[in-house]
Amino acid sequence: MQTERRIYRLSPDQLSAETIAVTFAKTSRSPKTFDEIAAELNDEKSAKFNEKWVVGYGHASVAEHAVLHLALENVSRLAIETIEGNRLASYTEKSTRYQEWDNDAFIIPPEVKGSRKEKLYVGTCEMLFEAYQQALGVLRTWAEKKHPHQEEESDKAWQQRICSKVTDVCRFLLPAAAMANVGVTINARTLEYAIKKLLTSPLAEVRQIGEEVKAVALQELPTLVKYANPMEYLGGIQAAYKSLADRSLGASGTNWCKLLAFDPEGEAKILAALLYRFGRNSYQSCYDQVISLDTASRVDLVDELFKDTGEFDVPLRELEYTSYVFDVIMDQGAYFEFKRHRMMSQTAQSLTAALGFSLPRAFNEAGFEQTYIETMRRGAEAYKQLAAWNPNVAAYIVPNAFNRRVLFELNLRELFHFSRLRCASNAHFSIRRVARRMIEDIRLHHPVFLSHLCVDCSETSRDIELEYFKEVSMY
Ligand SMILES: Cc1cc2nc3c(=O)[nH]c(=O)nc-3n(C[C@H](O)[C@H](O)[C@H](O)COP(=O)(O)OP(=O)(O)OC[C@H]3O[C@@H](n4cnc5c(N)ncnc54)[C@H](O)[C@@H]3O)c2cc1C
Repeated sequence: MQTERRIYRLSPDQLSAETIAVTFAKTSRSPKTFDEIAAELNDEKSAKFNEKWVVGYGHASVAEHAVLHLALENVSRLAIETIEGNRLASYTEKSTRYQEWDNDAFIIPPEVKGSRKEKLYVGTCEMLFEAYQQALGVLRTWAEKKHPHQEEESDKAWQQRICSKVTDVCRFLLPAAAMANVGVTINARTLEYAIKKLLTSPLAEVRQIGEEVKAVALQELPTLVKYANPMEYLGGIQAAYKSLADRSLGASGTNWCKLLAFDPEGEAKILAALLYRFGRNSYQSCYDQVISLDTASRVDLVDELFKDTGEFDVPLRELEYTSYVFDVIMDQGAYFEFKRHRMMSQTAQSLTAALGFSLPRAFNEAGFEQTYIETMRRGAEAYKQLAAWNPNVAAYIVPNAFNRRVLFELNLRELFHFSRLRCASNAHFSIRRVARRMIEDIRLHHPVFLSHLCVDCSETSRDIELEYFKEVSMY
């Protein structure tokens, strides 16, 4: 029996992803070393094992050890929403902030090709992309004047600075049909569910992507994704809920960011969990102890927690013991970044043109406002006509400027992480406005912990709104 410590890699160059998964799974019953177990396996034996244990007996976590890197090119940004809709996977995609789109870089979905709506659809996409190209030129002139070359700045740095000012604004014109590339790293357990979701989509492009992803995955994972099929049960749920949802009264109010739920005792509960972690008492007695402290002592405890924590240190897991639920209306560009925060629970409503669109102030300053508004209104009108025919497909032509409603819940630990990234000065102003407003709302209730967010408080969500937007909800 081996007794010395060994740490080594099972290389995907030598073993298939399924064999690696089975090698790890077998350590549960076998006293042998991992390389000994692997040496006894081949693809056929691994497939048999997976069929029996993972598929048959539901020991599904074994499949997490089989990891694939999938490259998806020229898929629509609407399809990317489903591709990236899995918490336990990793993604990197073409950015609307750092790249420009060519005029023809949009998807014509299978439902549209050859249909009576093709002309309207293609015409609308062409109009949006032409306006985007035109805006790139107009906004560049504006940006060069507004943000002149600094003495200490290199030409390259200035060009990059100008480019990001321009693309950050022009991206409002790009529709969800815009093509992008996305790299996905995913384990077989998540992938199986991801394929099921893709195959269940109401969009033909997404279903086709599901078939293609499954075919590619089967080359490496012949057993673990074999049974990934459409989820028939979703159709019934959607039908039942949609008819009720359509009947509900649409009173929505004017508050674009509403903190729906939080725990008034959230700060005390985190401190109680920390006492629990470092002590021996029951949670209830830890909580009672925290409640018996005066405010100054509680503040001291929180200060102690953050005293030696640097900007890039991760807060302790006990910050997860309080969370916040929000109902937020944000533009589609912001949502596209927001959805990447996998530690939140998020429910986004469909992308429509019903909640109006934002008008960035830069379009006004650059003399492009009228063209922009006209383009958005024509886009909204085309959306209406397409939605009457097929509301799912109509979402493809909705530009990033249009608003979307998102329900989400996040805990305080994720808020720390989210705000560090999204309140930073290099974050896009649309998502920065959302992040700042969330902090402002939460700070009213949990000021002690929020005082330790590494976020510069000199900028408010209202400041961002005034500086970057002329309107946030135009029709
Ligand atoms: C300046 C900037 C530029 C960006 N540019 C691009 C770009 O060009 N293209 C692009 O696709 N995206 C881009 N992003 C998005 C970025 O890659 C993240 O997807 C996004 O910010 C979500 O952050 P996160 O993954 O850290 O956090 P979350 O998903 O919110 O997760 C919170 C934390 O949980 C942990 N975690 C979650 N999932 C995993 C996991 N699978 N493995 C390990 N740890 C995990 C990490 O500690 C993470 O910080 C950019 C973001 C920023 C801030």
